[in-house]
Amino acid sequence: MKGKPAISPAYMTATYKFDSSDDLIDVVQSQEGYIYSRWDNPSVKEVEEAVAHLEGYECGIGFSSGMAAISTAVLSHICAGSRIVAMQEIYGGTYELFNDILPKLSVDTTLINCFDTGQLMAQIDKGLDILYLESPTNPLLRVVDIDPLVRSAKAKGAVIMMDNTFASPINQRPLDMGVDVVIHSATKYLGGHHDITAGLVCCNKAAHDKIWHYKKILGGVMDPMTAFLIMRGLRTLELRIARHNENAMKIARFLESHPKVKTTYYPGLESHPDHEVAKRQMKGFGGMLSFDVDGDFDQTKTVMDHLKLISLATSLGGVTSLANQPITNTHVALSPENRKKAGVSESLVRLSVGIEDADLLIQDLDQALAVALG
Ligand SMILES: *Cc1c(COP(=O)(O)O)cnc(C)c1O
Repeated sequence: MKGKPAISPAYMTATYKFDSSDDLIDVVQSQEGYIYSRWDNPSVKEVEEAVAHLEGYECGIGFSSGMAAISTAVLSHICAGSRIVAMQEIYGGTYELFNDILPKLSVDTTLINCFDTGQLMAQIDKGLDILYLESPTNPLLRVVDIDPLVRSAKAKGAVIMMDNTFASPINQRPLDMGVDVVIHSATKYLGGHHDITAGLVCCNKAAHDKIWHYKKILGGVMDPMTAFLIMRGLRTLELRIARHNENAMKIARFLESHPKVKTTYYPGLESHPDHEVAKRQMKGFGGMLSFDVDGDFDQTKTVMDHLKLISLATSLGGVTSLANQPITNTHVALSPENRKKAGVSESLVRLSVGIEDADLLIQDLDQALAVALG
């Protein structure tokens, strides 16, 4: 029949059939072709190639979640006695991996405040196997000057890994900063619609072969339907990110001038401590921002409870806006002392700005602040 599907289907298949034993033997030996979907799947491959292309790397690998991507990428590059230096401000799940699990495998993980540059450099100079970075950080959107850290770690022969979830490949290109392995929670901007859980890694062929081997064994693979939905998300990624950037900037300006808001944290604001680094390192400032309400815990909770258009939820990076009070969920496990260090106050609100009409979002925030704080 003439006419082909314009869009690739979700290849919902666990395995692949062969016309002859010789064909099967050939694919197993050459690893060119499909054998079993825990190894490779055409729908997943399409996403892997698309995201690798966006990030500028040779290869991509799909995972069942951002944490599967992170844990598999890290495990494939270490053994007992390895040493990882990371920023303290990394994603909570990554922090737990480094703090609770890897030390049990005799892996030395050193977590340093990302703005204690002297200490970070000193730890890198001691020698390391992996330097693990994340920027902008959660929830204060601090932007880490990546370049000097990468240079020092490279001189020590380390593999540089970076979580690029918050920025997205449109706003930040870790490849240009010398990063070896880029990681995404595709649950966030890549998928973009709050309807899937997935992860991706982008890297060169040598790192790909290591990580792919571990993925195949550990088994945290992306499923074909999820891959189909990520492909759909990717078709609007650039447009979505442009709107996320624009909306977040408008809302940040509104909050910054609001009498009931103490501080607004958005790298696009001139008042942000890392604005200059962000201008140099990022192509857009992103859709994430945080702010401190001029009130106590209960008043902040009241703001949360009166948002109408913006949903009270954890997660980020989707078309609809989400807000949360980090102290009640994402940062609940931190001790009061560590919370203070991380800048997570009782009145802090994190906002994942969606692509709705910015004026409606501003109205929503304005009325909720008015109910809580008069
Ligand atoms: C959400 C998130 C992760 C974890 O991704 P999951 O898909 O939830 O496993 C990792 N890093 C960052 C920065 C995230 O926001």
